Amino acid sequence: PSEFQGKHVTVAGLGVSGVPAAKVLHGLGAHVTVVNDGDDDRARAQAAELEALGVTVRLGDGDSLPEGTDLIVTAPGWKPDKPLFQAAEKAGVPVWGDVELAWRLRGRDGRKAAPWLAVTGTNGKTTTVQMLASILKAAGLRTAAVGNIGVSLLDAVLGEEEYDVLAVELSSYQLHWAPSLRAHSAAVLNLAPDHLDWHGSMEAYAADKGRIYEGNRVACVYNVADKATEDLVREADVEEGCRAVGFTLSAPGPSQLGVVDGILVDRAFVENRHKNAQELAEVSDVNPPAPHNIANALAAAALARAFGVPAKAVRDGLRSFTPDAHRIALVAEMDGVAYVDDSKATNTHAAEASLAAYESIVWIAGGLAKGATFDELVAKSAKRLRGVVLIGADRALIRDALVRHAPEVPVVDLDRTDTGAMLQAVQEARRLARPGDTVLLAPACASMDMFTNYNKRGDAFAEAVRELGAG
Ligand code: ADP
Repeated sequence: PSEFQGKHVTVAGLGVSGVPAAKVLHGLGAHVTVVNDGDDDRARAQAAELEALGVTVRLGDGDSLPEGTDLIVTAPGWKPDKPLFQAAEKAGVPVWGDVELAWRLRGRDGRKAAPWLAVTGTNGKTTTVQMLASILKAAGLRTAAVGNIGVSLLDAVLGEEEYDVLAVELSSYQLHWAPSLRAHSAAVLNLAPDHLDWHGSMEAYAADKGRIYEGNRVACVYNVADKATEDLVREADVEEGCRAVGFTLSAPGPSQLGVVDGILVDRAFVENRHKNAQELAEVSDVNPPAPHNIANALAAAALARAFGVPAKAVRDGLRSFTPDAHRIALVAEMDGVAYVDDSKATNTHAAEASLAAYESIVWIAGGLAKGATFDELVAKSAKRLRGVVLIGADRALIRDALVRHAPEVPVVDLDRTDTGAMLQAVQEARRLARPGDTVLLAPACASMDMFTNYNKRGDAFAEAVRELGAG
């Protein structure tokens, strides 16, 4: 019998993490009760599915702790200050997230417990984890990119497939609820203010990200250009012999990976002890070779190298990697103007990275600001802007920042939040653009004021570009 046999486990939240967690725990013999805040149609459908298995579901009641609860397994997004968790703390009931559950369940029933190479950061997580999986595959290892993407963590740990190593994307929420997770090696890509309403403060956000380094065995990978990530390494308790390994877009120091004359170079894991550096790949092997993405490639390479992957696999893996949609995707070129979809740039830190990748830009921006300010982004990017087209609910915030920091740049404020606004935005952008320019959708905002998600926003952009080409 499992350690869950007969235990009363409360699963907090239905959805993509709650439903599989409830099924797994039920299968392990636990008495499972799911509590959920909402009771809309989707929740009802999920509840019906679970109830048919014998799981108890309480809809519209996400805040009271069921009598006799031994353990809570929560959806990562639930805020730590929720009354449910206060009640749990008072009653001495432990709270795990879905990641903690997966971590504890790995290696069951004679399965191989694959080590985790973990990645977090404000931006670039998905891309880096996919690059890492691509590199590990090129080295002949059985692996998958897991987390918010592709295979779910529970499936990776409990499914039929066997893995040698997992490339795991972790959000700050997931890390908050994963106290016993110990990665083989981990990377924090960057740290910029995000989700502060959830964590309560920048310090709390950083502390949750920093958990990823706790107990690392081989390497803690940090961003040399982002001192906050290095500070987190210094504060972490790691296994003896675990090394701090930096990545940088400049020439690498000892124990760093970096770039020298267009070559990605490793000075941390050198195979030949008569040399102090090892060439891994060319910058042009990175797709797309934008500066922030080269940083992602270096972080992925560092983790792969920490796992013992040879240089050639790094190059092959980077070459065979194709980025997910809506991440600096070239949609079309018309009249010498490139149209690029970076709809995934949903915060200012991401938009800053993509604006830094082009020389002369017509920028399409706006949406839901989520409490962000735009002065720094606009000030840093002003000299690259040919023009700006603003859409979405919080566009006035960007417009005001433009008035302050880029008064000469022409701005078209569309004053629209309907879905059709994208076509007009692209038309206006085309009018502003000159040959050699890039029309860049990098909204620096969330999409939900106009679209269901960033995918739909990017699709609308691509469709508008095609329509323009046909017209
Ligand atoms: P995440 O999974 O962290 O959201 P993604 O890999 O999906 O990250 O990239 C999201 C967006 O963040 C990209 O569209 C790009 O605009 C930006 N981005 C990617 N990598 C970085 C990076 N290393 N630094 C800053 N911004 C980045």
